[in-house]
Amino acid sequence: MPADADFYALELLLDDQDQALLHRVRGFMEKEVQPIINRYWTRAKFPHEILPGLRGLGIAGIPYDGYGCPGKSPLLDGMVAMELARTDPSIATFLGVHGGLAMGSIYRCGSEEQKQRWLPAMARMEKLGAFGLTEPEVGSGVSRGLGTTARRDGDDWVLDGRKKWIGNASFADLTVIWAKDVGDGQVKGFVVEAGTPGFTTENLEDKIALRVVQNARITLDGVRVPEANRLQHATSFRDTAEVLRMTRAGVAWMAVGCARGAYEHALAYATEREQFGRPIGGFQLVQDLLVRMLGNITASAALCARLSQLQAAGLARDEHASLAKAFCTVRMRETVGWARELLGGNGILLEHHVGRFVADAEAIYSYEGTREMNTLIVGRAITGLSAFV
Ligand SMILES: Cc1cc2nc3c(=O)[nH]c(=O)nc-3n(C[C@H](O)[C@H](O)[C@H](O)COP(=O)(O)OP(=O)(O)OC[C@H]3O[C@@H](n4cnc5c(N)ncnc54)[C@H](O)[C@@H]3O)c2cc1C
Repeated sequence: MPADADFYALELLLDDQDQALLHRVRGFMEKEVQPIINRYWTRAKFPHEILPGLRGLGIAGIPYDGYGCPGKSPLLDGMVAMELARTDPSIATFLGVHGGLAMGSIYRCGSEEQKQRWLPAMARMEKLGAFGLTEPEVGSGVSRGLGTTARRDGDDWVLDGRKKWIGNASFADLTVIWAKDVGDGQVKGFVVEAGTPGFTTENLEDKIALRVVQNARITLDGVRVPEANRLQHATSFRDTAEVLRMTRAGVAWMAVGCARGAYEHALAYATEREQFGRPIGGFQLVQDLLVRMLGNITASAALCARLSQLQAAGLARDEHASLAKAFCTVRMRETVGWARELLGGNGILLEHHVGRFVADAEAIYSYEGTREMNTLIVGRAITGLSAFV
């Protein structure tokens, strides 16, 4: 049997109950998702058929207290994200958008009434969420220049603008839209419910990564939302950035899962595939690739585990999450490349799975802050000098 890729047994940092949940997630992903996911990936469709099973796991909004959420540790939250990505990075991303970005925006920035109104149904995944920040003309620079505007009109707000890349938006029940208030120039968050007049979505076609995730362009044309749907504690981009700080750690964990999934498929292949009359895993150069991969995964997972502990202690700062996101995604990209190399030609066939991880890694590498943006956040923290422009 191949050695377990949790080489330093980080799972033992979880108590028995949380380990059991992690194992349920693993069982579900391996049994219900792995056999069908390549078919959906090829067709660029989302497997709605798995939603009842995902709901049953109770893993939406893991770290939030109250409002029907599990109220568990950031470590469990991160390890679950890793576990989902280990079988399929798209499903991990879907949950990251719903439970992390959308629920996190409401949990962090909503009033008590707003949390009561939306979070319990979202925790049960009866209502699905999306998070609309990025725009066609503004990606890395969202803190300086959102083009989407919000104008107060009596008891309502009127939203106008365009968004791009918004995961889940085409089927979500509610989308958090970040827009600039023309009154005071500050960024504010608005919950736009599906079917609101003037809110339209169109899925991006022909992606080469995370094809299962449905990323949409959104057009907001005079969309009216009541003041009651403005997130009451989101008063500037600082609040948006706090949501991203919480979720960036989860993306670092997903990068570990993506790398680990590719590594585990490669390790299994190395013990089965024979050349020159023996398993290729018996060749020194192949073992070198495997050990490099395992080193990357182990270092990244250990770094993420410590980040989760800092989060639990209330000590995690932007630069901590950014270092993890930048470091782990670079190591992930390297690792999936080595896994593909190990499979030879079969590495580019979807049926061997590794090719999907190679492709999906490209999106994880760039979303929720590119390597450059996260590097600039860490660079500013360690030098005291901002090098953003
Ligand atoms: C699959 C996928 C899913 C996504 N899901 C969502 C979602 O659900 N909701 C959402 O709001 N957004 C989402 N995004 C958007 C994502 O967060 C952005 O793609 C990301 O922030 C980068 O922005 P950009 O693609 O516009 O690149 P740009 O900002 O145009 O960057 C292009 C290049 O320039 C570099 N660069 C930019 N500024 C600087 C600088 N000052 N110094 C050095 N280099 C710089 C960048 O690092 C990058 O390499 C998603 C993206 C992808 C690919």
